[in-house]
Amino acid sequence: MSFAEKILHADMDAFFVEVERRRQASLRGRPVVVGGAGRRGVVAAASYEARAYGIHSAMPMSRARSACPHLVIVPPDHDHYSDVSAEVFAIFSSFTPQVEGLSLDEAFLDISGLRRHYSDPAEVGRTLRKKIRHELDLPVSVGIAANKLVAKLASEAAKPDGLRHVPASETLSFLHPLPVRAISGVGEATHAALEALGVTTVGELAEIDPELLGWRLGRAAGTHLAALARGQDERAVVSDRQTKSVSVSETYEFDLRTPAQIDTELLRLCDRLGARLRRADLGGHTIAVTVRYSNFETVVRQTTRRSVVTSSHDLFAAARELRSQFDWSRPVRLLGIAVRALSEAGDSGQMRTDSDPRWEVVSRAITNVRERFGEDSVGPARVVMRKDI
Ligand SMILES: [Mg+2]
Repeated sequence: MSFAEKILHADMDAFFVEVERRRQASLRGRPVVVGGAGRRGVVAAASYEARAYGIHSAMPMSRARSACPHLVIVPPDHDHYSDVSAEVFAIFSSFTPQVEGLSLDEAFLDISGLRRHYSDPAEVGRTLRKKIRHELDLPVSVGIAANKLVAKLASEAAKPDGLRHVPASETLSFLHPLPVRAISGVGEATHAALEALGVTTVGELAEIDPELLGWRLGRAAGTHLAALARGQDERAVVSDRQTKSVSVSETYEFDLRTPAQIDTELLRLCDRLGARLRRADLGGHTIAVTVRYSNFETVVRQTTRRSVVTSSHDLFAAARELRSQFDWSRPVRLLGIAVRALSEAGDSGQMRTDSDPRWEVVSRAITNVRERFGEDSVGPARVVMRKDI
């Protein structure tokens, strides 16, 4: 089987809504939107049940409400969504380092490097979907194709919660029946100009003389659209790993007030972050701790290590070192820890020079136990015992 289709586009379905449904089962099966409920609120995400009423994101909430009187409106929790997004991206990165994020819940993956591990590109997609469902209990739609243009349209066609693999040889038969508006870059003005030429589908666009298109739309736009209509898109996946960070954070129901509480929570966060780094086989040089006080004032302090930090143990050591830079006499509402300047854990020959290699062995063993028995099956004693309180 060939790997002619090397671009995978993954797009979480109704991301904010599905994340809310995970912690509020009563929202399942109902028309739900996430967004501001106030007079000037807009819809940030709509469930498929809400979309059946014509509700879509960016719609004013007042209109959404009149379209569906029994609509359930959930206020957004962006901290939580970006935490979950980091988990989603850690799974993407566990397949390939070639991940280009487009938003919190959407990315292109270049899967050409996986040809030795999977029988065909669709199997990569099936495995990715299964993993996200299994580990995060969230739906994702996946499109796989020869290039970015078609992969993105394929994931759109797969929605909700589906997979669409467009073999390279079927690129044009997939693309041509689609409305011309589906192609990125076709805004209102271009659409009107194309309509004047009698063009409504991508196939009709492909048949227009590129000279004529250039004359009507400008040379650059004309050439670009003519190429897309013929299924040609050479854009590469540009990995954003270098600029990215992996983080975990928690907003507490009750403010943290004692040093012991802070320590336990930091340990728990480091443990979670360490597990995430190991799954994605990532490490980083810079460790940052975020503290949000009860008045919402937020302070971030960071430290940069000479070697790559990967284990929960080393994360905790760095976090403890940063502890003296915060005012712990004030009640704490949120704690977070992040690793920046990411690199592949195996990249650096000298990565473990200033950490105890035995911790690496322990960390790997913990990851294995978790993969078999679940995330909560093992952890530092202080954290595991806390659950029994
Ligand atoms: Mg999405």
